[in-house]
Amino acid sequence: MKRPTVLVLGAGYGGLATVVNLQKTLGADDVNIVLINQNEYHYESTWLHEAAAGTMSPEQVRYDIKSVIDPVKVDFVKATVEGIDVDTKVVTSSVGTHTYDYLVIALGFEGETFGIPGLDKYALSMANVKAARQIREHMEYQFATWSLEEEKDDSRLTIIVGGAGFTGIEFLGELGNRVPELCEEYDVPFEKVRVLCVEAAPMVLPGFDEGLVKYAVGQLEAKGIEFSIGTPVVEATEEGVKIKKGEDEFEFIKAGTVVWAAGIRGNHLIEETGIESNRARVKVDKDLRAPGYSDVFIVGDCALMINEEINRPYPPTAQIAMQQGDTCASNIVALIRDEPTSEFVPDLKGSICSLGDDDAIGVAFDKKLTGTKASFMKKMVDNRALFMIGGIGLTLKKGKFNLLK
Ligand code: FAD
Repeated sequence: MKRPTVLVLGAGYGGLATVVNLQKTLGADDVNIVLINQNEYHYESTWLHEAAAGTMSPEQVRYDIKSVIDPVKVDFVKATVEGIDVDTKVVTSSVGTHTYDYLVIALGFEGETFGIPGLDKYALSMANVKAARQIREHMEYQFATWSLEEEKDDSRLTIIVGGAGFTGIEFLGELGNRVPELCEEYDVPFEKVRVLCVEAAPMVLPGFDEGLVKYAVGQLEAKGIEFSIGTPVVEATEEGVKIKKGEDEFEFIKAGTVVWAAGIRGNHLIEETGIESNRARVKVDKDLRAPGYSDVFIVGDCALMINEEINRPYPPTAQIAMQQGDTCASNIVALIRDEPTSEFVPDLKGSICSLGDDDAIGVAFDKKLTGTKASFMKKMVDNRALFMIGGIGLTLKKGKFNLLK
């Protein structure tokens, strides 16, 4: 009998968890697994704010995909996916075409700019490891140039972060530690630097416990970070951003660096498949298949699932992407063995938002945590994600062991 081909697109959390579980369960005689990813490496998206701020090297954030896959069972193809035809079952990539019996779409997230003029062109985003490196180098360039200038333009030292959600706050936490280092490195007086978080919604970290949010804002403010809440960005230009402060009141803030961290969508390729989606996220069936396509699974940030208890979508997280990868793999095994598939049931263990290397807030196992305890838990969660994919070897190589800092 012909071996079925499982084609996995994307080696992020969801894609790699699917592949690693498939290779554990099935033999090379049972299945032909093909994994396509645009880079030879996987990056920990959950650490991108650290690479962007410059508190962690981009090298530390990524690892070689081949180090965690079994070459006998998995054929890794370094290529960019360019099109997905779910009717003819053909995927087109930069190196050719690929057919499949089962397809797993795990192409992750892209930044969402909500059509705000200028953001696409003038704001930077933490979309991947290359983009994170660009943010770091851009900020360093602004500091270095300010030092050199005879007529100093202080707005070079203004950093605007759009969005006070999870990603924005984690990036601000890193900036709180990084800015003093940059000041020392480039001979810049600390009081010349301005870090401003601009948020359209009336609150910081929606969905988090009020007391924890208050703690987070207090800690960041103590490091000199300013907040402008309930003031949407309405335009970005080469010079900075315009924010709306009232009915007819606007303010233009000149800034050398604008980082947009205020929203994500699924991968744009989803929108070209013809599968119904909302901001490139597909409301998948309970067993993670795309509605109407029994051979197409979608996991991670390209998938959308409703938490029926609160009738709202589950947030797009690495935690859920990895768990979906596990379920997706076991459902593919079930289909190959002609057995019924099972429902994906998220096992939410909590959520921890970092405020820099030594501080965090969050809820883990129903307990509220702040400070070094929360930071310890965050690092354990990060190490666990490495362990789940690459075992102890990968954890020792890439893990975070300054646990009590
Ligand atoms: P990804 O991990 O984004 O992987 C997608 C993969 O597809 C990548 O390898 C990419 O290179 C590849 N790819 C994309 N397009 C193509 C193409 N055309 N061709 C080939 N390959 C392609 N979640 C948490 O649970 N906890 C956190 O603390 C947390 N912190 C975060 C902090 C930051 C700064 C950010 C940005 C996100 C954070 N998240 C966190 C969210 C989490 O990172 C995402 O939910 C998670 O990465 C989604 O996993 P995924 O597998 O869907 O996609």
